[in-house]
Amino acid sequence: MQEIRNILVVEDELDLAELLRYNLNVSGHKAEVVHSGAAAIESVAAKKPDLIILDIMLPEMDGIEVATKLKRSAETSTIPIIMLTAKSADEDQIRGLDAGADDYVTKPFSIKVLLARVDAVLRRASKEAGASSIVELGPVRIDLDRHEASCVGEGIKLTLTEFRLLAALMQAPGRVLSRRGLISNAIGPGITVTERTIDVHVAAIRKKLGDYGSMIQTVRGVGYRINEPDA
Ligand code: CA
Repeated sequence: MQEIRNILVVEDELDLAELLRYNLNVSGHKAEVVHSGAAAIESVAAKKPDLIILDIMLPEMDGIEVATKLKRSAETSTIPIIMLTAKSADEDQIRGLDAGADDYVTKPFSIKVLLARVDAVLRRASKEAGASSIVELGPVRIDLDRHEASCVGEGIKLTLTEFRLLAALMQAPGRVLSRRGLISNAIGPGITVTERTIDVHVAAIRKKLGDYGSMIQTVRGVGYRINEPDA
């Protein structure tokens, strides 16, 4: 299911602005159009859009200046920007990306291409935002920010090292992580502990996962991996 996203179009060519608004709305977004840089800044301050399509060539305050302003403020710096640049003006594209644009499309462009870019940038942005720190595998769920773990909805108490070990495994499901890799991941690089220490911690985590302890598998001679529980 697609969420409706608010998209701000900043374009002084009225026909093009209208064409963009129409097509974005038809494809399930909610587009608002402004025709100047100043109006863009105002609009963003009033309501933060999920994405901005920003023409580089605008009267007075141009797209570069708008992007620079938005990227400089913590409030607005995370709003993705797709810059519209003049054809073959490589310089513009570089300036646009330098100013913090996430992507650019050169004019003239096909609406189809632009819509695809819009979707790609939105997907990327929501993935980053939604890297919200929750990692789930089967019944096990961890919150990387809050340092909380649960199994089948029940909170489990882990030591910091255990938490980091579990987090490292959960972020690479199905992949074998070496003991050495786990040490530098969970305990810190340059700290000398024996590889046996990892085994002790893993045994403790398994115990705390109860029936699901077997999700963490020993790979003989190498290390550990976590898998979804057997059905
Ligand atoms: Ca323009």
